[in-house]
Amino acid sequence: MAHVYGIDAAGEALLAGPVAKAKAVAAAHAEDVDGKGRFPDEGMRALAEQGLWGLCVEKAAGGLGAGPNLFAGVVEELATACASTAMVYVMHVTAGQMVAASKTVADRGALLAEMAAGRHLTTLAFSEKGSRSHFWAPVSALVEQGAGFSTSAQKSWVTSAAKADSYVSSAQAPRAASPLESALYLVRKGSRGVRIAGPWHGLGLRGNDSAPVSFEGLAVGKGDLLTEPGKGADGMLQVVLPWFAVGTSSMAHGLCRAAVAATAGHLGAAGFEHAGTKLRDLPTLRARLAQMSIRTEASRSLLGRTVASMAAPTAETPLLVLQARAAALEAALEVTDLGMRACGGAAFSRHLPLERVFRDARAGWIMAPTVDHLQEFVGRALVGLPLFG
Ligand SMILES: Cc1cc2nc3c(=O)[nH]c(=O)nc-3n(C[C@H](O)[C@H](O)[C@H](O)COP(=O)(O)OP(=O)(O)OC[C@H]3O[C@@H](n4cnc5c(N)ncnc54)[C@H](O)[C@@H]3O)c2cc1C
Repeated sequence: MAHVYGIDAAGEALLAGPVAKAKAVAAAHAEDVDGKGRFPDEGMRALAEQGLWGLCVEKAAGGLGAGPNLFAGVVEELATACASTAMVYVMHVTAGQMVAASKTVADRGALLAEMAAGRHLTTLAFSEKGSRSHFWAPVSALVEQGAGFSTSAQKSWVTSAAKADSYVSSAQAPRAASPLESALYLVRKGSRGVRIAGPWHGLGLRGNDSAPVSFEGLAVGKGDLLTEPGKGADGMLQVVLPWFAVGTSSMAHGLCRAAVAATAGHLGAAGFEHAGTKLRDLPTLRARLAQMSIRTEASRSLLGRTVASMAAPTAETPLLVLQARAAALEAALEVTDLGMRACGGAAFSRHLPLERVFRDARAGWIMAPTVDHLQEFVGRALVGLPLFG
């Protein structure tokens, strides 16, 4: 049967070989990563060894040149095993696409080659203490200084904060008339003025090290700019948002699939000895499991349509992207909640992996654009209003 994301035979072979190997490593460490709230070093190293840090990097730079559909397939598989690994990977691929799209960063080719070689991990540093989930409106600003710029910022969440080799970051352009006149720039590991400003201790995705980071008098060279000053919103909305939406949607689907599998397994295995029946003999529980599967497959189909549209964009593509992310994140909440209810105390007491999946699934919903924002954007688009009012 054709893959729901339209993945071809070569892509299927990648999923069955290198991805499956990296996934097995991530799975073996998932409980420990979650329990200790530690970075998924083993899973990320396995992905690097399998050449997957360069999945969507152009072939000329040593990558595999994959598009959004294979990205979705890889992330979904990873998320069935360890969502923390999947999230770190989503941020890396998404931020890497901004580097790939940049016409201004000085060492674009070298950066992409390092990513493809598994030596450079990147991430996003958009959210700020001052503008919270409104990532499109940074309150920090670039100030002209000598031949370049300097900036100070309080970034509120940076996935892979202590591990990343670079951050794709945002600030208002010099003399911006509004926060929407922004610029994107690259912050390199070890830059003076960059400080991890607190610990990461989340409810879910406990391994992804999404700590706050502060920049104080950080020097930003002209060659660090990822967009022209004033063009940051274009980069955020036209490059970062679609890749982030695909990555987080497929991560949600991996969590849904894990919840369906764990629930089906438990309903078939656990039973009532006094009655000689299994949990699966209860129609209520079968109905919950059916709802879980129906919701998962409906959302996967919408993402499949979305990634196909991204490969041959039309006027409806941006709307599909927003809708796919909203649908997937809502599905993840509902499906994991149904799984918790279907499996009862066995799930609540952590005898099943469902409880971790349930917690991990809560993160995507509040990552910006949150589902509230997505609904607002979709609604505005449908009635012909501009995205930002
Ligand atoms: C696990 C995790 C990892 C993350 N990693 C990164 C990262 O690597 N890089 C990065 O830049 N950010 C990251 N974030 C931050 C994320 O993108 C959001 O900025 C953050 O979750 C917003 O939280 P907040 O409390 O500031 O939300 P708030 O802005 O305070 O929102 C609170 C509530 O209000 C709602 N709301 C806000 N504005 C509107 C509106 N206009 N209309 C309707 N409802 C609205 C929201 O939906 C939410 O329900 C991460 C977040 C999480 C949870």
